[in-house]
Amino acid sequence: MKFPILEDGALLPLVESFYTIQGEGFNTGKAAFFIRLGGCDVGCSWCDAKETWNPSVHPPVPIASIVQEAASYSAKSIVITGGEPLNYPLDKLCSLLKMEGMEIYLETSGSSPLSGVFDWICLSPKKRKPPVEGIHMLASELKVIIETDEDFVWAEENRKKVTSNCLLYLQPEWSRSSEMLPKIIEYVKANPNWNVSLQTHKYMNIP
Ligand code: SF4
Repeated sequence: MKFPILEDGALLPLVESFYTIQGEGFNTGKAAFFIRLGGCDVGCSWCDAKETWNPSVHPPVPIASIVQEAASYSAKSIVITGGEPLNYPLDKLCSLLKMEGMEIYLETSGSSPLSGVFDWICLSPKKRKPPVEGIHMLASELKVIIETDEDFVWAEENRKKVTSNCLLYLQPEWSRSSEMLPKIIEYVKANPNWNVSLQTHKYMNIP
């Protein structure tokens, strides 16, 4: 898949932007402006954002207009997500957001090298396209989606690559939650370095 790199990241394919509450991981419960970029070639079968995959259907938007909208909200927290946002150079977007005094959180599978500067990096590695070399060391938070029992092994493989300061989360894949959440609970009780993450926005019926 080709990802359009336009004006070195001054234009980005925007799927949607919205002001909501972060539902997952360490920043759960915080008000934040979400920037969802189009394009992902990881192809998770359970992906709940499949509409993002093809970047060509999401028109490139000047980052200045995205930042202008972000600055209009009360909260100064930004979540950059996708799709896979690291398919694009994010340095220019991060610079503009920082000029507005924003805290920037990244949600990534780590399948492409890091660009941009972030206050928080949530690395959610996927077996179909594993993280690139070295990116684990930059993660603030490791969030592994648990769909099957084998994903606990995948979680531990990734845990070995992050720093000792990185926070560890296991999150049930939404459609498999009734089966996997009890297993996650028992796993976290036995391995308390890990924490449970839930997609609380889905319980709150918010984006
Ligand atoms: S990496 Fe994220 S956006 Fe891409 S297919 Fe997987 S869940 Fe969907």
